[in-house]
Amino acid sequence: MKICVLVKEVPDAAVQKRIDTGSMRLDRSGENNLNPFDTHAIEAAMQLKEGGDLQVDEVVAVTMGPGSAQRALQKAVALGADRSVHLSDDALLGSDVCATGLALAKVLESESPDVVLLGQQSDDGECYTIGAVVADHLKMPSLTQVVKMDVEDGKLRCERQAEYGYDTVALTLPAVISVGDAINEPRYPSLKAIMGAKKKPLDTKSTGDVGIDAGQVGEAGSQTTVIALNPPPPKEAGEIIEDEDTAETVEKIVAWLDERKLI
Ligand SMILES: Cc1cc2nc3c(=O)[nH]c(=O)nc-3n(C[C@H](O)[C@H](O)[C@H](O)COP(=O)(O)OP(=O)(O)OC[C@H]3O[C@@H](n4cnc5c(N)ncnc54)[C@H](O)[C@@H]3O)c2cc1C
Repeated sequence: MKICVLVKEVPDAAVQKRIDTGSMRLDRSGENNLNPFDTHAIEAAMQLKEGGDLQVDEVVAVTMGPGSAQRALQKAVALGADRSVHLSDDALLGSDVCATGLALAKVLESESPDVVLLGQQSDDGECYTIGAVVADHLKMPSLTQVVKMDVEDGKLRCERQAEYGYDTVALTLPAVISVGDAINEPRYPSLKAIMGAKKKPLDTKSTGDVGIDAGQVGEAGSQTTVIALNPPPPKEAGEIIEDEDTAETVEKIVAWLDERKLI
């Protein structure tokens, strides 16, 4: 059985995100990192492999992105993936959600996975939708927000977190599953794994290699256009209550909360 994990390179969480107002795209020139939500998907794959209830022969990390995205793949390999696939092509520049999902589905088709795992969201785009788009192209069942996965008679029994509680769903493979960040505590890579990651096989593919028509991706293949991007409104300055007389301070805090109907 083969598990493919979709991973993405995103701006590091510590970096202030900037928009390039010319192209209306995120400026990705600063420090980048593996999308933290994807570390949960890699850990879920490793737990399925190590759990022994499914015969998992390999875990493959897959990404779409510029040359720098290889670093995200190396981190995924350091966390346990056996090898990685990098879809990289200038034709992909400017792909929106649907075009990105189609391109990723084409790479996955060439790998014929039994399970596709994703993070719940990317830390930059936060579209939460790639899993569903990929599943639609692959004609596989799609589950989102999965926070528990057990193997039962060769099937996966998954719990997905919903607003009202949990859904328990039995899933026949192959399937596309995006996992919530409550599913596990991702491991830290060992120094040996970090050093060894660069030596694991990395397959770089162009759009032509996986049968993507250039007109289906990039700006040409995207049917949405970003027309405006605005920074969030600045935070209002907070009110500081000095504690000179505790009884009076408590009264002031209660009055402040009461005014805002918070109590
Ligand atoms: C209208 C619009 C226009 C856009 N225009 C551009 C543009 O011009 N240039 C540009 O660079 N981006 C653009 N984007 C953003 C780009 O398309 C996003 O990377 C893409 O939409 C995926 O969304 P997401 O990463 O937020 O996915 P989510 O659904 O939030 O991510 C969920 C999971 O999907 C997987 N995943 C997501 N993306 C990838 C990937 N590339 N490779 C591997 N796994 C992945 C990860 O496992 C991730 O945890 C645009 C988006 C929109 C909505």
